[in-house]
Amino acid sequence: MICSTGLIEEGALESTMYVVCREHLELAIEQFLDEYEEAPDVVDLEDTHFAAWDPPKQCERCDKPGQYLVV
Ligand SMILES: [Zn+2]
Repeated sequence: MICSTGLIEEGALESTMYVVCREHLELAIEQFLDEYEEAPDVVDLEDTHFAAWDPPKQCERCDKPGQYLVV
C-alpha cells in the first residue's frame, strides 16, 4: 500500500487506514487482514510527518493517543 512517492494517496485515506494506539495495533492489523486479505503496512506516527495531512490524534478504538497508522 505504500507507493514510492509517499505513503498517502489522495482519496485513499479514510477507507483504508486505521489510527490506533499500541494496545489496539494487533486488532487493527487483524481487521485489515479480514477486510483486504493482505497484510497492512504499519507506520509509527512518531517517526513520520506528513506534508499535507494531519493524522488523527486519537486511537479509533479508545481514548489513547494514536500511535500507529495501519494502511
Ligand atoms: Zn486504543
